[in-house]
Amino acid sequence: APMIEMRHVEKFYGPFHALKDVNLTVAKGEKIVLCGPSGSGKSTLIRCINHLESIKSGEITVAGHRLSDSQKAVDAVRREVGMVFQQFNLFPHKTVLENCILAPMRVRGLSRAEAEATGRKYLERVRIGDQAAKYPAQLSGGQQQRVAIARALCMEPMAMLFDEPTSALDPEMVKEVLDTMVLLARDGMTMICVTHEMGFARQVADRVIFMADGAIVEENDPESFFRAP
Ligand code: ADP
Ligand code: ADP
Repeated sequence: APMIEMRHVEKFYGPFHALKDVNLTVAKGEKIVLCGPSGSGKSTLIRCINHLESIKSGEITVAGHRLSDSQKAVDAVRREVGMVFQQFNLFPHKTVLENCILAPMRVRGLSRAEAEATGRKYLERVRIGDQAAKYPAQLSGGQQQRVAIARALCMEPMAMLFDEPTSALDPEMVKEVLDTMVLLARDGMTMICVTHEMGFARQVADRVIFMADGAIVEENDPESFFRAP
């Protein structure tokens, strides 16, 4: 069974038709890069996958849970799908480690000791274990985004969604975040990444999907995508 499946998805913001008959099947371990002009619906598409946006019609299934079934299905999907945004959304008055352990304790029901062990493990994984006791403001933007990635990984998700994770960063910090994403990709994580970083797309994407005006207009393996005129 696919990890993520969208079938005939239609999304409106009031009268505005934001997603038009979107069909997308993502296999376990597959890496998708989603690109296209600003306003074409990329962010909307991935926000629909964990029901940050509701859809008008069509069907979205994630790890066997059909979003339309129940709030329970929505909660299950949100546990299974990690999301990383352009803004890091870390709690400023909590340390890096505390930021990482909140959801594992509340949502996964881990004890504080278990959650801390999990937090340290994933902070190490993104190579930022030595920053665990610091506050977000003491870190660079690139480090904060890696904390946001570690925080998502602490839920041990089956898939990760990235919404322009490097767009808010100074250029010198983009690479460290992309390197972290490459690491996850090599681990076999199922990923959908909205990004303009075509080097990253070329390096890890199994498919590059191009959106325009709310629709998927082209879908290809990266090599033929980059050969296209
Ligand atoms: P992209 O990620 O490709 O830049 P978005 O998915 O953010 O595109 O937005 C697609 C379109 O939907 C844009 O025209 C945007 O203005 C509109 N849109 C996005 N979110 C909302 C919202 N909450 N209410 C109304 N319109 C929205
Ligand atoms: P991005 O393009 O980085 O996704 P936007 O600036 O388009 O960010 O949107 C920022 C927030 O405002 C998002 O939550 C989006 O859903 C919302 N938004 C975007 N366009 C509109 C709109 N036309 N009307 C209302 N909300 C919008």
